[in-house]
Amino acid sequence: MNICGHEYKVSTNMPKDIRRVSDNFHYGQINYVKKLIYISPEIDQKLAEESLTHEVVHGILFHTNDCGAHNEQLVNSLSCELSRMGVGKLLWKLAFPKRRKRGVPRAAKT
Ligand SMILES: [Zn+2]
Repeated sequence: MNICGHEYKVSTNMPKDIRRVSDNFHYGQINYVKKLIYISPEIDQKLAEESLTHEVVHGILFHTNDCGAHNEQLVNSLSCELSRMGVGKLLWKLAFPKRRKRGVPRAAKT
């Protein structure tokens, strides 16, 4: 998916070392250098979409002015409201255009 002109890959194949630092509020991670967003495979679809929205907001702030990208409160405020508006579903479709049904594959749930 394209974030401010940067092509990002979104993956639910989150490495174990990243999963370990995930807390109750963070089920995703964005890497601005590798242009990669990880979403945990261990969460339900709604939370996955909310997490993707959260990481995309990080990306937008980083690639526009880098002023608020590390401000979790700002990112949470924006992403929670965007999620409430249903933006997560759209973002998920942009990230995984070929998956017809629910995004998190069963095989990843180990
Ligand atoms: Zn965050």
